[in-house]
Amino acid sequence: MTAFQARRALLPEGWASDVRIEVDAGGWITAVEKGGKGGEALPGVVVPGVPNLHSHAFQRAIAGATERRSPSGGDSFWSWREQMYRLCALFGPEDAEAVAAQLYAEMLSWGFTSVAEFHYLHHDPDGRPYADIAEMAKRHLAAARATGIGMTVLPCLYRYGGIFGREPNHGQRRFLNDLDGYWKIVEGCRGAIAGDDNAALGVAPHSLRAASAEMIAALSGFEGVIHIHAAEQVKEVEECVTATGRRPVEWLLENAPIDARWVLIHATHMTQAEIAGLARTGAVAGLCPTTEASLGDGIFALPEWRAAGGVLGVGTDSHVGTSPRDEFRQLETSQRLKLLGRAVATDEAMPHPGRALLEMALKGGAQASGRKLGAIAPGMRADFVAVDDLHPALIGRKDDELLDAWVFNGQSNPVSTVVVGGKRVVEGGRHIRAEAIEARFRKVMQRLFA
Ligand SMILES: [Zn+2]
Repeated sequence: MTAFQARRALLPEGWASDVRIEVDAGGWITAVEKGGKGGEALPGVVVPGVPNLHSHAFQRAIAGATERRSPSGGDSFWSWREQMYRLCALFGPEDAEAVAAQLYAEMLSWGFTSVAEFHYLHHDPDGRPYADIAEMAKRHLAAARATGIGMTVLPCLYRYGGIFGREPNHGQRRFLNDLDGYWKIVEGCRGAIAGDDNAALGVAPHSLRAASAEMIAALSGFEGVIHIHAAEQVKEVEECVTATGRRPVEWLLENAPIDARWVLIHATHMTQAEIAGLARTGAVAGLCPTTEASLGDGIFALPEWRAAGGVLGVGTDSHVGTSPRDEFRQLETSQRLKLLGRAVATDEAMPHPGRALLEMALKGGAQASGRKLGAIAPGMRADFVAVDDLHPALIGRKDDELLDAWVFNGQSNPVSTVVVGGKRVVEGGRHIRAEAIEARFRKVMQRLFA
């Protein structure tokens, strides 16, 4: 048993002082005592670690490398996707693992303590399965273990190149599986996470563009979380309407057993009826605000979703941002620009947007990860983030005001210590193995982009 001591901590019932948190050898919280004494001191103010509900780790290596105008102009998500396909042909398993380790160490240092890895880069650069068909997925698990971040591994089923049955293009060859190959990858991952309390398994039909109705039905019975991209782009919605007579979210609500196991990534373009219908199912809207801004996807209908009682969490997707702070800030400030208002994420009961966004992301992120986390409470994973309340961006702020300052003030990082499954992985704002992880990442990047 280990015990931690927090001078101030955010518990499910609110802020508390002198909190003693007991953690067993497996990394689970066994007791939380207010006014308790003793234990390893955590510096600053302690909040639950934030779950990241959407990542394609390899894209960390191309973040910032896809910004240039195309010769013909008119750039969009679709021209970005062509550049992404070209660059992702470069990676072997060693490279993918080194890039993922760098990314996960960065995420940890900003306060993400778990990641849902939506993994579709399955095969070799020619599109042939590796000797172990789950090789690439296992490399991501290895990177998670090397950094200490918790992981929900989501092998992604990708078979088609466009809505319901268009054959894939050459750029998609590394992603492709039929159902047989797909289930082999899922089983490989199941074996790889057996006995690991820091990991879980889910499934992910990539989108209505890449998986057929029959394939989505085949994955719907999975016991665990089910993630799918939906309604990210206007053109995707239009193609879906042309092919099926339904919009993507509308199609899913009518044809798949959507419930609280499901996570719809982006869900940017929804009608009021889709918002109400999806919110009623208890499914999570998986928002990736910095990526959605980077790709020109659109702005999520946050007030309408919240009014409908919808659940949401955040992810970093293409990794132009790697911090919860940046996702929260982008989510709230994009609403301000659209609605010409402020404090959009709040309500009377939760008047501070920093706190409101954190609470939403903890609840939705935990649900989307399919793991017991997101709260400092007995029975949960011991995942916490200590924020330095003496940091220049936060000094003089307390409790919910401090969370507002964390999200909305400045560029530097006030996260000091991060604990995952009861183990310290970030100290003094830096990952404990940052030097070795960065050295390996630098070598890979210099070779890939020489
Ligand atoms: Zn994505």
